[in-house]
Amino acid sequence: PPDVKQLGRATWTFLHTMAAYYPDHPSNQEQRLMRSFLSSFSRFYPCGHCAEHLQEEIKKWPPRVESRQQLGMWMCEMHNKVNKMLGKDPFDCNKIDERWRDGPID
Ligand code: FAD
Repeated sequence: PPDVKQLGRATWTFLHTMAAYYPDHPSNQEQRLMRSFLSSFSRFYPCGHCAEHLQEEIKKWPPRVESRQQLGMWMCEMHNKVNKMLGKDPFDCNKIDERWRDGPID
C-alpha cells in the first residue's frame, strides 16, 4: 500500500503549488473545473481513510475557487484541519505565498 506520509507530502506540495498559481481572476469555466478537480481528487486519493475524511470536509467547507487568494486560504485551512487531527502545529496561512510561490525550493 502507498506510504501515507510520503504520499501526503508529495500531494500537499502539488495542491498548494497549484493553488499558488491559480488565476487571480479565474473564469467561470476555470472555477467549475477546479471544483470538479477537487471533488474527483477526493474520490480517488489513494489513502482510503484520508479520502473519506476529505470528502466529508469538502461537503462541510466547499472549496473557495473564486480567486487565487481564496483557494490558497481554503487549501491552507484544509491542511491545518489534517495537521490538527494528527497533533501537528498549525501553519500560518499568511505565509503560503512565501512557502509555495515566492520562496526558495526546499
Ligand atoms: P505535511 O503535512 O505533508 O506538509 C508538507 C509541508 O507543507 C510542511 O513541511 C509545511 O512547509 C507545509 N505546510 C504545512 N501545513 C500547511 C498548511 N496548512 N498550508 C500550507 N502549507 C503547509 N495522514 C494521516 O495520517 N491521516 C489522514 O487522514 C491524512 N489525510 C490526508 C489528506 C490529504 C488530502 C493529504 C494530502 C494528506 C493527508 N495525510 C493524512 C498526510 C499528512 O497530511 C502529511 O502529509 C504526512 O503526515 C506527512 O507530514 P509532514 O509533517 O511531512 O508535512
